[in-house]
Amino acid sequence: MDTTNIRLSLPSKGRLQDDSMNFLAECGLSVQKLNPRQYQAVVPALPELGIIFQRPGDIVVSVRQGSVDFGITGIDVLEEKRGDNGDILVLHDALGFGHCALKLAVPESWMDVTDIPSLKKYSATLNSPLRVATKFPVLTERFLNRHSIPHTTISAEGTLETAPTIGYADIISDLVSSGQTLQDNRLRALRDGLIQPSQAALIANRKTLETNPNALEMARRLLEYIEAHMRAKENLLVIANMRGENPEAIANKLFTQTSVGGLQGPTISPIVTRESNQGWYSVSVVVRRDHLPQAIGELRSVGGSGIIVSPVTYIFEEEPPRYTAMLAELRK
Ligand code: AMP
Repeated sequence: MDTTNIRLSLPSKGRLQDDSMNFLAECGLSVQKLNPRQYQAVVPALPELGIIFQRPGDIVVSVRQGSVDFGITGIDVLEEKRGDNGDILVLHDALGFGHCALKLAVPESWMDVTDIPSLKKYSATLNSPLRVATKFPVLTERFLNRHSIPHTTISAEGTLETAPTIGYADIISDLVSSGQTLQDNRLRALRDGLIQPSQAALIANRKTLETNPNALEMARRLLEYIEAHMRAKENLLVIANMRGENPEAIANKLFTQTSVGGLQGPTISPIVTRESNQGWYSVSVVVRRDHLPQAIGELRSVGGSGIIVSPVTYIFEEEPPRYTAMLAELRK
């Protein structure tokens, strides 16, 4: 098969590029750049997949047009540029990195403007519509229209945060991560000024999935790795020794506890001791990472000892749930 037959586009620079590459590596899909300056790469685990690097907004456009089959990019640029004809299918909308939010922010000196109602009141006192500098005119206009605030958007590249100080806009609509940039520029996000929450997403061209079985199979494999990894990351494998009459008696003790039931139920295997009939068993359960202290306490309370905890690399379901959801979406 031609190695560029199916293509996945990744962000070409910055944190989103590093985070995408690290995320795919954690999923078992390490990306290898053949040459650090080249805008192409391969994934040895998926030889049929070609990787290219593009700016996050261009990824959306390429996937929409079908020149690229899959993309990982931010929901912010996806929602700004996806259009309304359903050419793009979102296969996974929460990859767990690249978090930020598109927010409306006003100069700190606007003491009385803290939320949308007070912005609306203030804008009514201006002689002309509110001037809003943004790299997201579609989302920003939709938001301001929904709140019936007269405005003009000023599309800007580069740093927007200085626009109110320089004077070519009154307020801005910009991506905020830590909030440091707003603070440095004496701007303040409005309490209810969240236009679009965002994190990285996996997207695909709908028509390609409908017509190319190889692309559909690639979607299944990408989601298989991603979901198995993301599910595993939330969990730990806990192994404990316990004494009991038989496996059922031990399982019944465990079922009285809430955190140690396992995915289906506990795996209980006999431990072969030097002296016979000691009644020792090894119990393995998958436990949610945030339930670990509780699970250890519960295992101890029913006689667990020698407790071992290990990370889980993958948890494979019968079929990745998001693949099932994608098939349902394609049938619509
Ligand atoms: P911060 O100071 O952490 O709130 O980051 C805000 C600055 O980083 C602004 O200039 C944003 O345009 C930019 N920024 C934050 N998050 C992202 C993101 N996920 N993608 C692109 N730019 C971002």
